Amino acid sequence: MNIRVRAKLFVQGVLLSPIYKNLHLKLSDTYRHKGLRKRMVDALRRRGIEDEAVLAAMAAVPRHYFLDKAFEEHAYEDKPFPIGNQQTISQPFTVAYQTSLLDVKRRDKVLEIGTGSGYQAAILAVLGAKVYTVERQESLYQRARDLLAQLGFTGIRCLFRDGSKGLPEFAPFDKILVTAGAPVVPEPLKEQLAVGGMLVIPVGEEVQHMYKITRLSETEFEEQTFDAFRFVPFLSGIKHK
Ligand code: SAH
Repeated sequence: MNIRVRAKLFVQGVLLSPIYKNLHLKLSDTYRHKGLRKRMVDALRRRGIEDEAVLAAMAAVPRHYFLDKAFEEHAYEDKPFPIGNQQTISQPFTVAYQTSLLDVKRRDKVLEIGTGSGYQAAILAVLGAKVYTVERQESLYQRARDLLAQLGFTGIRCLFRDGSKGLPEFAPFDKILVTAGAPVVPEPLKEQLAVGGMLVIPVGEEVQHMYKITRLSETEFEEQTFDAFRFVPFLSGIKHK
């Protein structure tokens, strides 16, 4: 099934699901939201995002569901926003950039480190990936897990973990995506890549450069670097509520 059809079915699924009806007052995707979302996607295209599957996924997922009500009006601006616990939902350009680099194929097994709001995980799922997403802050983990379940994302598994160790019991992964700025590339993440798989991770202290690491064989990795970004820090250990 092509991505546009899948994206459309996803939106219809959200609109028609009985759970969605229960959430009617809280979550509604109006024509205004859809119009703003289309403008967001046009702006991403102008900024150089060319991957049509990624753009269709971003046109399908209501970003305002993943933000606090207070920011709803601004949900389709190309900006990061606070999601509590000193964390942010990544800016749409960053989501589009990382997802394009990851080159997600249908049925790819993808590990995301840094669930945050759950928005990036939703984009990966709409692209047809089987998603494992890990968050180190319990309250964010719970909120994203509940929201994604309410929206009917059965292909996303949320885990409350320190992602610096990866997820050995579910490895190997076709793709791994890190959405927090890491000072160095954690070795376990490279080890948990399937041969032919790739890891996209922002690396650096104050400013991070996007790295794409491809596993060529059991022992060989290819490293490519891309543009500079500013992410919230990748931290070790878990944080209970
Ligand atoms: N992908 C998210 C972006 C969230 S910001 C979204 O779409 O909203 C990055 C997230 O990474 C934060 O929630 C932060 O708590 C989390 N994080 C940082 N270090 C981590 C680690 N070692 N393991 C798991 N999550 C981590």
